[in-house]
Amino acid sequence: MKIAILSRKTSLYSTARLKEAGQKRGHEVQVVDYLRCYMNITSHHPVVVYQNRKLEGYDAMIPRIGASNTFYGTAVVRQLQMMGVFTPNSSQAISRSRDKLRCLQILAAKGIGLPVTGFAHSIKDIDGLVDIVGGPPLVVKLLEGTQGIGVVLAETKQAATSVIEAFRGLDVNILVQEFIKEAGGADIRAFVVGDRVIAAMKRQSAAGEFRSNLHRGGRAEKVKLTPEERSTAVRAAQILGLKVAGVDILRSNHGPVVMEVNSSPGLEGIEKTSEVDVADAIIQFLEKIVGGNGGEKSGDHNKY
Ligand code: ADP
Repeated sequence: MKIAILSRKTSLYSTARLKEAGQKRGHEVQVVDYLRCYMNITSHHPVVVYQNRKLEGYDAMIPRIGASNTFYGTAVVRQLQMMGVFTPNSSQAISRSRDKLRCLQILAAKGIGLPVTGFAHSIKDIDGLVDIVGGPPLVVKLLEGTQGIGVVLAETKQAATSVIEAFRGLDVNILVQEFIKEAGGADIRAFVVGDRVIAAMKRQSAAGEFRSNLHRGGRAEKVKLTPEERSTAVRAAQILGLKVAGVDILRSNHGPVVMEVNSSPGLEGIEKTSEVDVADAIIQFLEKIVGGNGGEKSGDHNKY
């Protein structure tokens, strides 16, 4: 196969591992900086140009689109899809997963367990919003945040009101969520490839911190998932149309609840913690689809 990894830099851990895994299995792999691609939009003959050459003859791509480059990155993925290049995560699925609210709305509609979540535009409605999620303690989240930045625990109604007012004053979108205290500052990352969870890890927050992000001092350890957690992760990825996904789950009293689904999940933490060769599993999945049942190439997940 000829595989394009859409990524800003070859030196990034995940990109380097995917390249290495592809080459090890005998494929031709090129890292393509999607921000340096340009495209024509004409009928019948979509083209992507990179480093003064047309991208041609690719069987598959692995999009690794950074959160701040979703708009342009998904346009490049879409163009390559139109050229018939297979992608485990379609342009539409990536856009969908990048919008936290949209993602939660879609998952809720399909019956996936989620923390009770509220969303409002006007600060005049704060009281009702706080009530809707069951009152304090609650978590206030910036919709555009990553790595735990903009995720605040408000223990009282007064604190919640101040935080919500401050965020809204900055004209940013937020959501308000039931605080899953029983998770004990831990969350689970389930790595889905195809229709299976191939690796998992538990992230435990540092003392005095409820956010388990590794960037916030959390530490990762091996974990065995329950069948319910596995099926929740797989279903969440399927519903969003993602064939490679990192599904973040909290263990709540009412079963696993999904916090977020990531369409470009990092490989470093999960590979080192679980000791699973995740990069190899992704390449093998591409082989199965592209090399085997070609019919799946135009399947649902490949829509624009
Ligand atoms: P980000 O996408 O910025 O990482 P998250 O929504 O994943 O933000 O939240 C960061 C961390 O905060 C999570 O990993 C989890 O440990 C904790 N957390 C988030 N939401 C809740 C919640 N509703 N209840 C308990 N802990 C939460």
